[in-house]
Amino acid sequence: QIIAVLAETAEHENRVAATPETVKKFTGLGAHCLVEKGAGDSAAFGDDDYAEAGATITDRKDAIAKADIIIGIQGIDPKELKGAKQGVTLAAALDPFGKRERIDAYAETGAHSLALEFMPRITRAQSMDILSSQSNLAGYRAVLLASTHYGRAFPMMMTAAGTVSAAKCFVMGVGVAGLQAIATARRLGAQVSATDVRSATKEQIESLGAKAIFVEDVEGIEGEGAGGYATEMSDEYKKAQAELVSSHIAKQDIVITTALIPGRPAPKLISDEQLATMRPGSVIVDLAAEQGGNVDGAVAGETVVKHGVTIIGARNITSALASDASALFARNIFNFFSAFWDKEDAKPIFPDDDEIVQGIRVTHDGKVVHERLLG
Ligand code: NAD
Repeated sequence: QIIAVLAETAEHENRVAATPETVKKFTGLGAHCLVEKGAGDSAAFGDDDYAEAGATITDRKDAIAKADIIIGIQGIDPKELKGAKQGVTLAAALDPFGKRERIDAYAETGAHSLALEFMPRITRAQSMDILSSQSNLAGYRAVLLASTHYGRAFPMMMTAAGTVSAAKCFVMGVGVAGLQAIATARRLGAQVSATDVRSATKEQIESLGAKAIFVEDVEGIEGEGAGGYATEMSDEYKKAQAELVSSHIAKQDIVITTALIPGRPAPKLISDEQLATMRPGSVIVDLAAEQGGNVDGAVAGETVVKHGVTIIGARNITSALASDASALFARNIFNFFSAFWDKEDAKPIFPDDDEIVQGIRVTHDGKVVHERLLG
């Protein structure tokens, strides 16, 4: 099997889908990697490192033409698949809802395309889960970003010139990114509190040494739905949550929001009126900005100031940690392919009835096949 590793073409994308380490592992499976010249440059992996690991460095057209499998961080322009083998497998974060027209076009070329962000949240797929590996880094990075925009220090400092008080940091949404944001803010010395709609997170927040802020007095407050994800909450809950947030947020210096509901726009958690109650100089990082944002006025990829509060709308935030983000993404991809690798045939076999295959396969045999994209 020939595996093509292409340079990413999207703006602000510094990651790469294979590292010299995973090239070596694929070579160990009997595959051969073709790496587009310079593909790893922006993530600090040089062509020589890939070549030493067993890859052949080539140009983009050649890699696509020879590939049985094309791997990427983001999808490629469907036009490029015209030069590929019939039924080539394409595995990347394809953004099927945001770039639906591309999915239709992949189907037309006959490609077998796999949207890695649809990986089911099951134990067997944990090591293949790009959302988790990237969210963890995003949570870390969000806090660092907030700290550089904040005109004060995070830790309490007692100096001869007087005392600097600790920053108060509030994390809204305690999934993978939120947990890492809590841990990072604590390491920097902030006083941290956090909230979520899933009651299971309460213990997790407290075990990291942060204070849990929860709506307690509304019926049916459990927000955990299928697959451990959040569900949309009742209007009564939303009202109680807004009141709780209002009283808490006015005292915060830093807010990191990460709240998402699968298949729906991000829930709005901070309104313009609430922003107005915050101290000027406070900083908010909205990690949900690309999904519509948790904060009123947040714009993905932009930093705006409202009522004296800096609101950073995150966009592809892990690209700023391209080396580590690529290393984890690349291992997720390798773990996925190696789990389906048939040693005798030296190629992956994807059974139609496998939960992972059904979860991520979006086009096959000329058709769009994923249930979330049909009907
Ligand atoms: P996510 O990115 O979908 O959402 C982030 C957080 O926002 C979640 O904790 C969610 O409950 C919260 N949220 C949603 N609406 C909210 C609201 N109105 N107010 C406050 N918070 C709100 O979540 P995630 O990081 O993908 O994790 C979701 C769950 O999946 C977690 O329980 C995680 O441990 C689990 N998980 C399992 C696996 C696996 O088994 N393979 C892998 C990754 C994550």
